[in-house]
Amino acid sequence: MHDLRYASQILAAVKMKTAAGSAAGPITVNVRLSPFSHVRPEGLEETFRLLAENEGYRNVKLNINILEFNMHCRMCGRDSRHGGAVFACPHCKGQDFDIEKGDEFYIDKVEVR
Ligand SMILES: [Zn+2]
Repeated sequence: MHDLRYASQILAAVKMKTAAGSAAGPITVNVRLSPFSHVRPEGLEETFRLLAENEGYRNVKLNINILEFNMHCRMCGRDSRHGGAVFACPHCKGQDFDIEKGDEFYIDKVEVR
């Protein structure tokens, strides 16, 4: 149920921003999601929409960016960047590599217009 946890965090961020006296115009939330988070962007959007509408927020758009991650190949020693599933080193096709996963999810920015 990561979807719900992330959606709640986004909504909390939106509430904080709107409670600070901003106009209730269109709101855009930029979110970064790791390909390792086990959350599909469509699933997160849908969960968030339901949650937000339930609390009266109907004008919130999610901008979901998939985070890139670094892969270090143990065969050739080179690094490469990826935004999705990877099964082999793009340089040498080696399959012995480390992946730096980093954060799974974070909220980049909440824009209220
Ligand atoms: Zn390699």
